Amino acid sequence: METQLDVKGLKTYFFTEAGVVKAIDGLDFQVGKDESVGLVGESGSGKTVMGLSVFRIVPQPGKIVAGSITFEGEDLLKKSDEEMRKIRGKKIAMTFQDPTTSLDPLYTVGDQLVEVIRQHDKELSKKEAWEKAEKLLEMVRISEPSIRVKEYPHELSGGMKQRIAIARALASGPSLLFADEPTTNLDVTVQAQVLELIKDLREKQKMSLVMITHDMGIVAEITQRVQVLYAGMVAEVGETHSLFRKPQHPYTEALLQAVPRIDQRKELRVIPGNIPNLINPPTGCRFHPRCPYAKDICAEKVPPLELTDRGHLSACHFWRTLSLSGA
Ligand code: SF4
Repeated sequence: METQLDVKGLKTYFFTEAGVVKAIDGLDFQVGKDESVGLVGESGSGKTVMGLSVFRIVPQPGKIVAGSITFEGEDLLKKSDEEMRKIRGKKIAMTFQDPTTSLDPLYTVGDQLVEVIRQHDKELSKKEAWEKAEKLLEMVRISEPSIRVKEYPHELSGGMKQRIAIARALASGPSLLFADEPTTNLDVTVQAQVLELIKDLREKQKMSLVMITHDMGIVAEITQRVQVLYAGMVAEVGETHSLFRKPQHPYTEALLQAVPRIDQRKELRVIPGNIPNLINPPTGCRFHPRCPYAKDICAEKVPPLELTDRGHLSACHFWRTLSLSGA
């Protein structure tokens, strides 16, 4: 599969008064053309910072300090701000957990869509752009688009706002979409509809997708491959189906056990402990203070990311001998 996004050795640090927070500390991440990849971990794992780094919108006091980000053959870290602005939105787009982040409360839905549409297709007349805005709303399954297009964000439900944020992200026909926890604040039924919509649009638009989430249920639903992050580093990477059946890293196992199963009445396990302080992360394997399988070596030596017998990449000293359970 042709690689579309290739992130190598990425380090994104936050220079705070309390010290340097190593939010991403030497990460590799790849997305193939037309591929759907899950970027998974608890909050504080670095998954959102990864998205912000690719878009070059890491907020202060954060900074990309090392690595390379190559998108469709171009090195994004060498682009000027102006060049980056053109790439963002046109070729790569992002939707956020809170759709109000991408919607301006002072403008109607139509105005906001038309603005993006005309930015990327300057030939279109205002009328044509409005027609395209209505089509986009239809595409994200908003009923009565000719009415909705004249409404303001506060007049819409949470689910509708998220659909419109998705429409806005897709207005320029990007080839890669980063969706950052797009369903977190929605109720279960709307959540399922938004996921179905993203899945459907991805296939129709022939677009690659990076689904950033803490929820392994969503990963199972929508991705072909998963990259599990822990405390700014890669824990495991693998094909979704295989990783769910047989994880080869204890942190992946713990995430899978935290997924509610309708068909099983077993109690949901919460992963004990918290994501570590990234100013002074634990030595060796960063997961060792929370890992039920940890041995002395785990606190002493950083486990290398190794190719396993199932074709995963695992950063665990004991992937060969542990028998971990899947979902
Ligand atoms: Fe657990 Fe050790 Fe493997 Fe880290 S290296 S995941 S602490 S067993």
